[in-house]
Amino acid sequence: MDIDCRFNTKLLHGSNSKYGQREILPPIAQVTAFEYESMEELEKVFAHKSMGYAYTRIGNPTLAAFEQKINSLEGGIGAVSCSSGMAAVTSTILAICDSGSEIIAASGLYGGTIDLFHDLEKLGIHTRFADKLTRENIEKLITDRTRAVFGEVISNPSLRVLDIPKISAVTHEAGIPFIVDSTTATPFLIRPLELGADIVVHSTSKYINGGGNAIGGIIVDGGKFSWNFDKNTALSEFKKYGKMAFLLRLRTDLWENFGGCMAPMNAFLSFTGVETLGLRMERICENADALAKALEKESDIEVNYLTLDSHPYHELAERMLSGYGGGILNFRAGSKERAFKIINSLKYAKIASNIGDIRTLVIHPASTLYIRSGKNEMEAAGVFDDTVRVSVGIEDKNDLIEDFVNAVRVSR
Ligand SMILES: *Cc1c(COP(=O)(O)O)cnc(C)c1O
Repeated sequence: MDIDCRFNTKLLHGSNSKYGQREILPPIAQVTAFEYESMEELEKVFAHKSMGYAYTRIGNPTLAAFEQKINSLEGGIGAVSCSSGMAAVTSTILAICDSGSEIIAASGLYGGTIDLFHDLEKLGIHTRFADKLTRENIEKLITDRTRAVFGEVISNPSLRVLDIPKISAVTHEAGIPFIVDSTTATPFLIRPLELGADIVVHSTSKYINGGGNAIGGIIVDGGKFSWNFDKNTALSEFKKYGKMAFLLRLRTDLWENFGGCMAPMNAFLSFTGVETLGLRMERICENADALAKALEKESDIEVNYLTLDSHPYHELAERMLSGYGGGILNFRAGSKERAFKIINSLKYAKIASNIGDIRTLVIHPASTLYIRSGKNEMEAAGVFDDTVRVSVGIEDKNDLIEDFVNAVRVSR
């Protein structure tokens, strides 16, 4: 049952499940399989004639509790949790596309997703990249083979924001579903399904979990897209399910057969993690805004953050993200050497290739996350040789400001 209430209340009470022994949190069903009293009962479960769990790769109550929670936050008709964010992106694409399909994607995507789209070429799935997802750019790239338009709500680390109502209008006119990766935005900043997106994916490893203790991903289906089963041949066997076709194709084909299920322990950790998403995001965004504004005063570094007046997406971000700028900021230090020097002299920020942790994390993306990318791809992602990416945490903001400003100054 879904309850209609405000965000922080919804985080705790939105998917109002009751558990078997009245546990306040979903028990961790840390099992591979589920046993039945008779073979007849298990037969019914396999035939989908009775509700029940058989094997964790096919379904597990701890995963189901987590899926319901995220589904209620995003306002979807159902969600499928995955072993990682990459598994969520992969399963989504493969549920919709088959050999010969084309995807239109914004350039400047998360590095792993760019690499995945390259890999998919070998399966006959071709991606056409647009510099930005605008009506003009999308219409130029649409062919009769286009099966999906894909973008990140706030791209990481390029910090471009999608105009979801505008883009979904274009894709819907062409009968193409619009898939968004909302990892960096989270349902605290935006609920893409309400604005016109058809499918939302998250790496739950980041802000949703928040504590940096479990890899995971999730796919939420908005359930509004009208599939054309002659065109969307990957889904044609699921025609009789209508609006549920994607979710069922996903659940009973891709997810079950490719084997990318979330681990029950990770579902539990992410379930407890997401309950504080509102508090964490509010604090993270406030810290990031204050840190960006303090760093902007240092004249020899160039700061990139969505709430700064200088940011090209400032106005769109304000409209799309309720005035918040998210948890990622970048700055250009002038040279790789100086970027390293600043990073190495920070007291509180940990050097780690992650985002969305409650701890502030820093990295030099060019020598890590983009080490296998070409210079053009890297620059399209807003990464230069002197870029430092900061994933801002929930520390006291004055400690962060003192630490970063000091590091910038001593590196001169
Ligand atoms: C981290 C990330 C992913 C991949 O998620 P994993 O959980 O690491 O597999 C996908 N998209 C975005 C935007 C990310 O930040």
